[in-house]
Amino acid sequence: MSTGQFDLIKCGICGKAFVKYTGGRPTCPDCYAEEEALYRRVRGVLTTYPERRMGIGDVAEMIGVEERKISYLVDIGMFKLTSGLGELSWEDDDSRYDAKKRL
Ligand SMILES: [Zn+2]
Repeated sequence: MSTGQFDLIKCGICGKAFVKYTGGRPTCPDCYAEEEALYRRVRGVLTTYPERRMGIGDVAEMIGVEERKISYLVDIGMFKLTSGLGELSWEDDDSRYDAKKRL
């Protein structure tokens, strides 16, 4: 469904259709703030309880959000899942949006 310049897709946070330009994030402009806040909260939990080895469901329950939103952050490369264990982790630096490129 690519037109080359942009795609009409559903926002990964709110599910609303919007136009995503090539190279842009699959998050609608209305949800940038929520995406950022969610990222900080998930990272905060993982930093606070590193020994718990939490998966998507554990973190979702702890911060009280839907699991699909955390799965979405994994999909866009903000967090990674340790293969096999399903344990959430992240690249420990500030260039989170470039995490995928460096792999
Ligand atoms: Zn949205």
